[in-house]
Amino acid sequence: MTDAHNHLQDTRFDSIRSRIIAEMLESGITHCVVNGTSPADWPQVAELAKKHPNFITPSFGLHPWQQPTDGWLEKLLDYLDDTPHACIGECGLDRWMKDYDLERQKHIFIAQLAIASDRNLPLSIHCLKAWGPLLDILENHPLPARGFLLHSYSGSTELVPQFSKLGAYFSFSGYFLHPRKSKVIETFQTIPKDRLLLETDAPDMLPPRTYITHPLADSLNHPGNLATIATAISELLDISLVENNAQRFFR
Ligand SMILES: [Zn+2]
Repeated sequence: MTDAHNHLQDTRFDSIRSRIIAEMLESGITHCVVNGTSPADWPQVAELAKKHPNFITPSFGLHPWQQPTDGWLEKLLDYLDDTPHACIGECGLDRWMKDYDLERQKHIFIAQLAIASDRNLPLSIHCLKAWGPLLDILENHPLPARGFLLHSYSGSTELVPQFSKLGAYFSFSGYFLHPRKSKVIETFQTIPKDRLLLETDAPDMLPPRTYITHPLADSLNHPGNLATIATAISELLDISLVENNAQRFFR
């Protein structure tokens, strides 16, 4: 079982990270993709991947919530050169956050999309309330031949065919099992089976209490919760192909 998107490098995991990784392995998770969000956490992501080469795939990106620092793009290229199996992300567009600057976000996202396309790397895209601008960018720029991942997809059902046609994979987060998110499940039921992935986005996006097998203090989401989430949604979605999809996309 693959966790297609988490943040194991997050400092909130600092004192419990080894235990968490051991518990993920025990719960049947065989692989996860750890997403950096800015040059500040890329060293931790790289270090984790070095320590757990068969378990962790590193991903380096500049998240729309983070400020670009001088030379971030060159640094990103350095990390990608040093880590041949790395992915790009988390990056994307966000009009949900306060005081967003969409033009700047687009510029930063397009730069990362261009690298993913040139090198055909897996790209993990964050999008909140910016689906129109995202679709517009994806339709008008070269895309990675292997496709791209819309992580925690919360866009409309209507856009699923358009994103699919462009090569999108869509990852389902346990957070979507909250009853108020039932519309998202309806959307996921329309996603082509060969484009479905699972993720935790840990330490955020805590699933409802019934699905928490690994409780943590401060409402942190333990990525080991993925196993119950997979079981829970297998009745709602046909997830028999999910692992094949993860292998195809990330390897
Ligand atoms: Zn994330």
